Amino acid sequence: MIGISILGSTGSIGLNTLDVIARNRGRFRVVALTANSSDERLAEQCIEWQPEFAVMADADAAERLQRRLHNTESSTIVLAGTEGLEQVAALPQVGYVMAAIVGAAGLLPTLAAARAGKRVLLANKEALVMSGQLLIDAVHEHGGELLPIDSEHNAIFQAMPPPGAAGLDQAGVRRILLTGSGGPFRTRPLESFHEISPAEACAHPNWKMGRKISVDSATMMNKGLELIEACWLFATGPERIEVLIHPQSVIHSMVEYSDGSVLAQLGNPDMRTPIAHALAWPERIDAGVAALDLVKIAGLSFEAPDTERFPCLRLGFEAARAGGTASVHLNAANEIAVDAFLNGKLSFTDIPRVIEHTLEAHTMVPVQDLDTVLAADHAARATAATCIAELS
Ligand code: NAD
Ligand code: MG
Repeated sequence: MIGISILGSTGSIGLNTLDVIARNRGRFRVVALTANSSDERLAEQCIEWQPEFAVMADADAAERLQRRLHNTESSTIVLAGTEGLEQVAALPQVGYVMAAIVGAAGLLPTLAAARAGKRVLLANKEALVMSGQLLIDAVHEHGGELLPIDSEHNAIFQAMPPPGAAGLDQAGVRRILLTGSGGPFRTRPLESFHEISPAEACAHPNWKMGRKISVDSATMMNKGLELIEACWLFATGPERIEVLIHPQSVIHSMVEYSDGSVLAQLGNPDMRTPIAHALAWPERIDAGVAALDLVKIAGLSFEAPDTERFPCLRLGFEAARAGGTASVHLNAANEIAVDAFLNGKLSFTDIPRVIEHTLEAHTMVPVQDLDTVLAADHAARATAATCIAELS
């Protein structure tokens, strides 16, 4: 049985991961579950799964969880804070770590898993966007594995030559076609974008996800982050990646080869497919996902992306081309702007303004170590917050 730590077990990816594990109980053992502050939900999960450890990032929530578990049969040890998250990511009895915390908060625990040589199942794209080569190097140096959970990257991984093969050129890979649905506002009149509410932005047509990534999908910053994520995962530059709008979300991305072949991975838009793929790779297991009914779907369509409608996508490309800490600035400003939007403090159309202002205010430097990343993140957050205060 493979021991698993699920970082962010109460979120959308965390719940889907537990659903897949529940269908394959003989293969996996849940060693640790973690959440930010939702102690009630984590307590329910602890009672069901009886993990050895439960971690709450928030110290007060950890105390509440401890009290909730006190009068139960549970022998789960409750830990708190980033140290607790790093600890359960590196336990010797853990083979796989599902990195499903949202945002920069997942960076240190994801790095800890990589440094402990684990199989890292990476949903937390922000961690890779921020740390780039540092995370890739940590995986290689410590003999771990990095398997993408993001549906596009999981699809690309499946359509690529096996890992360990030569570089993309030798493998005959010409381009990566990164698909995206275009989000809920692909056809909404642009004049009404300033009125977009958080509820509208979180209502994605094809995927049910956490609120932050839902807003990222609505602004298409998600595709910008995914572009950077793909560059690191597949050791390539943005010039080799084409973003393609595919509203049905049935093809999850494609790889084009020098002989003209294009390999695609198709499936219903259900995150349990990439989660099950990465959990079992190179084998296959049941994910509980319905069979794809292509007759019912009938048509697949494609469009070029519109960067005027979605300036965040342009900003993502610019940061990818700039390299270094530009991606850290982009990610930090986006997290601050999306949070302000979700809390009614910033309009939808001001999200890209805050990010562009932040990118212009900071000069990118090469990422040499973790301190460079954390300093760039800190500085960009401050700039974005000031910009939001001035706009309101
Ligand atoms: P979510 O908001 O539903 O869940 C986030 C989880 O992280 C929760 O368990 C929460 O308790 C925890 N968390 C939040 N802030 C934290 C903090 N400061 N410290 C520690 N834990 C914290 O988010 P999600 O939709 O599950 O997304 C998780 C990650 O997976 C994101 O990086 C997202 O981009 C990526 N992802 C999600 C999907 C999807 O379908 N949901 C698809 C692709 C990639
Ligand atoms: Mg994705």
